[in-house]
Amino acid sequence: MTIKEAGQGKGIEDDPDFYKTLLESTKAIPWKIDWNSLTFTYIGPQIEHLLGWPRASWNSVEDWAERMHPEDRKRVVEFCLEQSRKGADHEADYRALTQQGEYVWIRDVVHVLRDQQGNMEALVGFMFDISERKKVEIERDRLRQELEELSYLDSLTGVANRRMLDQVLEREWMEARRQQQPLSIIMFDIDYFKQYNDSFGHFKGDECLREVAQLLTQSATRARDFAARFGGEEFVLVLPQTDASAAKTVAQRCFDKLKSADIHHPSSPVAHRITLSCGVATSLPAHTDSLEHFLEQADRALYRAKEGSRNCIQVACSDGKCVETDWN
Ligand code: GH3
Ligand code: MG
Ligand code: MG
Repeated sequence: MTIKEAGQGKGIEDDPDFYKTLLESTKAIPWKIDWNSLTFTYIGPQIEHLLGWPRASWNSVEDWAERMHPEDRKRVVEFCLEQSRKGADHEADYRALTQQGEYVWIRDVVHVLRDQQGNMEALVGFMFDISERKKVEIERDRLRQELEELSYLDSLTGVANRRMLDQVLEREWMEARRQQQPLSIIMFDIDYFKQYNDSFGHFKGDECLREVAQLLTQSATRARDFAARFGGEEFVLVLPQTDASAAKTVAQRCFDKLKSADIHHPSSPVAHRITLSCGVATSLPAHTDSLEHFLEQADRALYRAKEGSRNCIQVACSDGKCVETDWN
């Protein structure tokens, strides 16, 4: 039997019932809008099942726009009108209002019909119910965000984040106290980084942060050495079993590596390249000492470096003062 015979002697192209049955039995909802009057000339009966509004209530494109979530309306209506005016086929996702006052995610796929002279005649399309897919997407985005928050890695630079730093510091502080071994910490802050972003843009700024993070990680070479992004353009190295003199050496190595990398920063008042200021603190913690006080010492040394010339290493001393260490 040929296709023509199956169509009971007529070609299916001559059989409007065939098309109608097909259109009205699919899950996708077909519709047609006359371009000149911007009114619906057809909408599939399935619309009543999906959104509840009677089929006869879909008159003009205003009915369509009004039954759209207010947050989606402007974006979608403007986009669809613009594409239609250009004569371009397009699709748009939005939340459609049901008669019960709820919203259903819809994907509208739109095709432009022209007459024989090439003038736009109508828009035809299908509305697809994509609520299940959207639910999965929304849940996936939520989980991704949650994972990032729970993660121990800084997503920009790939080094440990603040959350992990807090845990490592706590652990190493206890360990240093238990084993009576010195613990050192170096706090770094990039000099004039705002100007770097202003000169080269945030994207280049991000690239620079990644490079600095790598250089610092490579400068701390012992197995338990630990690098983290403290936040913004600030980094920390935690150096277990490391006395003040060895910590200074690590800081100097960081500065040397950064100098060799020569990351161009013409608007920096310190040098025409990216530089760091840093504060070093070392402790052989007694039971009465606190981790907070230790961190404050490093922070104060960093502050001194910023107050002074920048591009320098300040070391916190036990008497509460700081001394600058040469590195050049
Ligand atoms: P100072 O020498 O006093 O440290 O000056 P500064 O400009 O480095 O310091 P300030 O605190 O004024 O500015 C820090 C800049 O770091 C501003 C901010 O936009 C930038 N920054 C923080 N986090 C990021 C980031 O994730 N990416 C980029 N590109 N820039 C960041
Ligand atoms: Mg800073
Ligand atoms: Mg800075």
